[in-house]
Amino acid sequence: MDDVTPRQAREALEVCADELGLGLVGVASVERFRRGERVAQERRRSGLMGQLPWYTEERIRRGARPRELLPGARSIISVAISYLPQSMSQDEAPGPLRGRVARYAWGRDYHNVLKKRLRRLGAMLEERLGRPIRRRVYVDDGPMLDREVALRAGIGFFGKNTNILTGIGSWVFLGQIITDLELPPDQPSGKSCGACTACMPACPTGAIVAPYVIDSNRCIAYLTIEHRGPIPLELRAPMGDRVFGCDICQEVCPVNVTRGHPSGEPAFRAPQAFSVLDLTEVLALDEEAFRVQFLGSPIRRATRVGLQRNACVVLGNLGDRAAIPALARALRDGDTLVRGHAAWALGRLGGAEATQALEVGRGTEPDPWVREEIVAAIEAMAGKAS
Ligand code: SF4
Repeated sequence: MDDVTPRQAREALEVCADELGLGLVGVASVERFRRGERVAQERRRSGLMGQLPWYTEERIRRGARPRELLPGARSIISVAISYLPQSMSQDEAPGPLRGRVARYAWGRDYHNVLKKRLRRLGAMLEERLGRPIRRRVYVDDGPMLDREVALRAGIGFFGKNTNILTGIGSWVFLGQIITDLELPPDQPSGKSCGACTACMPACPTGAIVAPYVIDSNRCIAYLTIEHRGPIPLELRAPMGDRVFGCDICQEVCPVNVTRGHPSGEPAFRAPQAFSVLDLTEVLALDEEAFRVQFLGSPIRRATRVGLQRNACVVLGNLGDRAAIPALARALRDGDTLVRGHAAWALGRLGGAEATQALEVGRGTEPDPWVREEIVAAIEAMAGKAS
């Protein structure tokens, strides 16, 4: 069928990827990902993945069998592109009444940016090789086991924090093209974290429960982005000032210290509109304003209610009573999740104004769970005062 040799196809891939500014490119075979499938299924069954309704047994099964994703597939092109906005340092405190946002969400939504780039890569390859190429593109949006693909394609290796550590650090977005084009596969890197365990004790919620094992139910990134219910009580204080996502296990990683370098992609570098969020402004957003403000930003994933829940927790942690009027208003929000977390935050901040807002809430709150939060907050303040 083909008068293009795998080597010629590979050369074309290198040239096109380079032209498109794709940082790292590798190729994986389409054999079944047995280890990845076993590990993912075990984690899903044991509840370590949290509650992700879309992360089903069938999805993992399909993702581990690339040929089911594209009949006739021969190769998977794996790419990694840096999203590190400028430098690694984000040492400065975010400022009064502000919360920190994980770096991947400072710029535009990576799904759109990288997908467009990978579609272009496919079209360029067709043009250059003079033959149609069947393909499907994935950017964190389908069953593809993206980290397993990156590992097999030699893009990087698994860190104990479960990120893929590449030659440009772990501040990378991963994308894949599964294709009927035959390409010579790369070899896995064979590197590892060695004796390092820095990320494990650094996690404030203890979410890295063993090397290479994250309990999503404790992970701040999961809790602040994907989780749709209340933040467990014991994890609210350890969230600190992180209102959307968390970078701690990447910040402490020596691989990032030595290799992480700023993205060449303008969409991820500027404007850095969302490196920190003004939390009282967040609390003032209605659904429409939330939609408009975060249009094209990964922050939309959290939903308006989820982000306001997080904002309440962070305001409680920051300890600045200037937040009390905004929290008192949030205690009258239409959503129970926001009201419950506003109550908790008011209890943390304490003082006469917070007490008054909570007492009013105790008398008027119709929801049993929010009432429990209000009572617990009043008791917490009483405990502190005595
Ligand atoms: Fe591996 Fe150390 Fe980085 Fe954790 S901090 S991922 S153990 S190199």
